[in-house]
This record gives sequence, structure tokens and C-alpha cells, in this order.
Amino acid sequence: MTTMQMQARSFLAGVGDLLLRRQTFIRRAQWAMIAAYVFLLVAPLLLPLPGRSDFIWNNLSRFVQFVFWGVWWPFVILGTALVGRFWCGLLCPEGALSEITSERGAGRAIPSWMKWSGWPAASFISTTIYGQLTSIYQYPKPAALLLGGSTLAAMIVGARYGKSKRVWCRFLCPVSGVFGLVSKIAPLHFSVDPEAWRRSDVGPAVNCAPLVPIKTMQGGSACHMCGRCSGHRGAIKLAWRKPAVDIVYGSGRIATRWETILIVPVLLGVVPAALHWSASGVFQSIRQWLAEFCVDAHWIWPLTLRLPWWILTNYPSVGDVMTLVDGLSLLLLITLGCVLSTVAFIVPLATSSLLLRRPLKVLHHLAQAMIPLAAASLFCGLLSLTITQLRSDGLVVPYIDNLRGALVASSGIWSVCLVFRITGIYGRSIGLRALATGLVGVPVALFCTAWATAFHT
Ligand code: SF4
Repeated sequence: MTTMQMQARSFLAGVGDLLLRRQTFIRRAQWAMIAAYVFLLVAPLLLPLPGRSDFIWNNLSRFVQFVFWGVWWPFVILGTALVGRFWCGLLCPEGALSEITSERGAGRAIPSWMKWSGWPAASFISTTIYGQLTSIYQYPKPAALLLGGSTLAAMIVGARYGKSKRVWCRFLCPVSGVFGLVSKIAPLHFSVDPEAWRRSDVGPAVNCAPLVPIKTMQGGSACHMCGRCSGHRGAIKLAWRKPAVDIVYGSGRIATRWETILIVPVLLGVVPAALHWSASGVFQSIRQWLAEFCVDAHWIWPLTLRLPWWILTNYPSVGDVMTLVDGLSLLLLITLGCVLSTVAFIVPLATSSLLLRRPLKVLHHLAQAMIPLAAASLFCGLLSLTITQLRSDGLVVPYIDNLRGALVASSGIWSVCLVFRITGIYGRSIGLRALATGLVGVPVALFCTAWATAFHT
């Protein structure tokens, strides 16, 4: 190891130790984030909806909209991919509130229903779809309802279950599963040295709020990078790792079907459909077909009935109302995205496992290789909100659509390379490995092409 590498290692370990020493400061920063979060959530509710002459820089509602959906959401995803889940452990207001209420709460045992592995996928799908049906990115009321409701639920769970823990974040948070997946490509993690652990004395206990089994931590996608265990038993430190090594040789090897569900039908199917539906020609065709069907059947109410804003978008004052036909068309488009991605990716992944003469469950490990593609797709899809908001205010970011297309394409290439590396664990024949990789490469190429086309529409 060179001197520079040793210096970099000790610098990183020092950063981890600094987090441990500055827990009081971190808690104060969390309170500041909570105050800002509550203000940004509530203030737009008291103001009229912005008009055409309102911009990000002269209207609080537009500013909040930009902060929440144009900056916070996409760049937390990017930050998680680049440095891990520091956002969760240091700044997330929802996680902090859940832990604070848990410190003074009933401390009950966590019920078994809460530990169901499907919650991250189920809650992410339901909040994504509900957010689209109520136009959460455009209006403050659904944003306050969904984000505020989620925070309230986090506080209630904290007040009832665990002591000084983040039970909500560990089991129920709608984005925790996605953050856990995306963090697998981060080059930073808290590493555990089992030998140093074995040799050391027990030492004071560590309160790991998200309930990570620190001693046996695999990869650390559940770790919130809070730093509280830094230096524990002389065995844990913040360290560098090769990006995606966790996918190939670490936690990717014990991936479950719920992780595969979150990657393939959800991140590669539901999310692109949900983020691009308003500009989608397929959505317009479905809507047209449904409208004609209703007219032929003399059912006019699905075309005219207005539902409350908390069920379907309903803002007649700005000419934005979703009918039942609109809502149903959106659900059908999302279902179509989900089915298409499942067929397009799962069939080649399963075929590759069989080609390698391995059990079908190997497809879950191979599916982990799609994480870079899924993360880039989510980030670039969310950037659409940033770009649309800036463009509507006359600010154009040059070459941004080409850059997004290039990012998704390079992540797709990275994913295909990871498939090839994973196949090396299960087979020696270069021919079979290349064939298995090529099979998965086809839907990856189609997916990248579809996104690149969508970015320019
Ligand atoms: S393992 Fe737990 S205590 Fe250690 S950094 Fe991660 S979240 Fe914090």
C-alpha cells in the first residue's frame, strides 16, 4: 500500500471518528432540518397556488416545490450512490423524529408483521402511484399529506416500538429499500474487521438506531452511516471499497426475491412509467381508447366526475383536473411498465442462471447487477422535475438531456459488466458467461434507448 493510500485510509477513519465525537452537533443539525422541513411543508398550504408570473425566486410555493422535488429527492439519491446513506443517519428529519420519539417512547417489542420483507417494495409502489394520482410534485396539499403523513407514522412507530431506535426506517420507510439498494454501489462504508473484533475486549455498547447487526454487517446497505460505532472494539471504521464490490461478492450473494422485485418491476418498470406518463404517447393512446369505450357504452360519469384532491388531482382554478379515465389510464400505463420490465429482464436473468447450470435463485444475484442502471434511471428520471421547473422559469441547462442519456447508457454498460463478473462466480466457461451476459444485455440496451428517447420528448 502506498503512503498516499495509507493517508487516505486514516483520513477516512478519522472522518468516521469525528462523526462519533460530534453526535451532539449532529442532533442540533437534525433539529434545524426538522424546523426547515416543517416550515417547507406547512408554509405553502397558507399561500394561494402560484400563477404564470410566479417563479422559483419570487414565490415561496414555487421555491418549496423546487427544493423538495427538484433538489432534495434526486440529489439524495445521487448522494446515496456516491457516499452511502449519510443522509439517513445525519440529516433526514423523518428518521431523526422517529428516533427522538423512540427515546421517550413505550419501547415495545417489534411485532412480527412489521418485519415482513415486502414492506419496502409495497410502500414504495403505493406512495409512488398515490403521489402521481394526486400530482404531489405540483401541489402543496398532497405533498403535505403524503410526506407529513409518513413523518407522523414514523413518529407513532418510534413512540411505540424499540428504545432509541429507528424501527420505522429499518422496516417501513417507503424509500429505505431503494436507499439500501442504491448504497450498494457507494465506495464508502463502515467496514468490520472480524479478527480485530474477536481479539478485543467487549467495550461499551453501541446504540445502532437502524438495528444493524454490527458484528456481522454484510455490505452495510442497512447502515445509516451515523458514525456511532466508529472505532468500536478497534474493529469498525469508515473505509473505501471498490464500487459495487458489495453487489458481486458481498450482500448481493444473499439477495432475496424482494430485492429483485424492487429492482426489476419497480425501479425499472413502475418508476419510469410514473415519472414520464404525462409526456407518454402510450398514455395518450390508453386514455383515448378508454374515453371512446366509455362514450360507446354511454358512461359519461368516468369522463366528468371529479373526486377530492386527496384521491385524484382536482384544481379547477388552474385548469388541472384528473378524471376517472385519466386516473385509470395512468394505472394501466404503470401496470404495463411493470409487466414489460418483468418479462424483459426476468426471462433473460432466469435463462442466464439456467445456462450456468445453477439453481434459479441465482437470478437474484444477477438481478443485483441491475442496481447501477436502476439508480441512474431513478436519478435521471427525477431530474426531469428539476429540468421542467427550471425551464418553466426560463432557465435552460445546456446539454442536460444528452448528459442524462449518457449517464443511463454508461450505467447500463456498468450493469452488463457486473453481470459478466457475477457469472464468473458460477461458471468457468467464458462462452457460457458471454452468452448469459449477452442475454441480459439486450433488455439493458432497449431500456437505455427508451430512456434516451424519452429524455428528448
Ligand atoms: S452500523 Fe449502525 S451505528 Fe454503525 S454507522 Fe451504521 S447505522 Fe451507525
